[in-house]
Amino acid sequence: MPERRPRIVLAEAFDVPAVEKLRAVGEVVVLDAYDEVNLKKAVADCDALLVRTCTTVTRAVIESATRLRVIGRGGVGLENIDVDAARERGIAVVYTPHASTDAVADLTVGMMIALQRNLRGCDAMVRKGHFWEARGGSCSREMSELTLGIVGMGRIGRAVARRCRNGFGMTVLYNDIVSPGWLDFVATLVSKDQLYAHADVVTLHVPLNENGFSFKSTRNLIAAAALSGFKKGAVLINTSRGGVVDSLALANALAAGTLAGAALDVFDPEPLPADHPLMRAPNTLFTPHIGSRSVAGLARMNDVVEDVVRVLQGRSPLYLAWLDEDGPIPP
Ligand code: NAD
Repeated sequence: MPERRPRIVLAEAFDVPAVEKLRAVGEVVVLDAYDEVNLKKAVADCDALLVRTCTTVTRAVIESATRLRVIGRGGVGLENIDVDAARERGIAVVYTPHASTDAVADLTVGMMIALQRNLRGCDAMVRKGHFWEARGGSCSREMSELTLGIVGMGRIGRAVARRCRNGFGMTVLYNDIVSPGWLDFVATLVSKDQLYAHADVVTLHVPLNENGFSFKSTRNLIAAAALSGFKKGAVLINTSRGGVVDSLALANALAAGTLAGAALDVFDPEPLPADHPLMRAPNTLFTPHIGSRSVAGLARMNDVVEDVVRVLQGRSPLYLAWLDEDGPIPP
């Protein structure tokens, strides 16, 4: 009997060239719904599963698979996949860690300037006919006068630092739990408390890690205790994941004036309910999780098919989820 061609399930859309590459090595099945029931059925007899942001690959889905060899995530964050469950069963999880770096860094810098120059407030005043009042009330510091605090000096953190240090001449402080190695810009490693105390702009670029009380955990990293240590007049930017910030504590800090402003691309949950206190908090700028949504960034997410094909052909993938995990050092 001829050997069965691999069966490849697409839970979300990938571009035509990417799908063609998959068709060259197997039978491609495109799902019309990616809820858990459908996914369990679909993976029961498939060799590869490809998802983007909206599909959640739970342990139950993974345990329904009998011959799954690889899960491909077109994108960066891996919290929509139970990576531990996959690893336990010897299923490779591959992704596109570099796809969104520039897009997210660009958005972060845009948010920084928007907060600093009160672009949202000025726009609203101009539209209401308060042109001169808006002008008179507007006088901000220049970027080069500001200290930037980066939590998570990974790919995106470094791209933000490069823009802000080499482009604007900002002073850059950072904190990470692993050494980022040699940096091609000037930046100072500090503790989180020092970073919060000295930064005019705190920007978050950590993954959402749910490790209980471990120093690696980032769930609610920015909560009341951290916010109380922020420099007066500082602003917070979060383009990482909503769960990294305790949104009620953030709303309280903004209402109390402990924090001068916040720009958020990510929320917990998404979307945030209309009656959430953050929706009424002053000096905020919200975007609907668009960090990675540049034309080039979205296109690069299709590259995950390269690694899926590699695994199906018995070759080593380039971007395996757990290769990022080596060598944590305490904060
Ligand atoms: P990365 O893995 O290159 O960098 C993350 C860094 O955070 C690493 O250096 C890691 O050591 C550090 N870190 C982890 N836990 C920490 C902790 N407790 N304290 C300090 N540092 C810690 O990831 P990246 O490519 O820079 O992306 C960062 C995050 O951005 C992703 O995990 C994803 O959640 C988010 N993201 C958001 C969008 C968006 O659309 N807004 C798009 C892409 C990525």
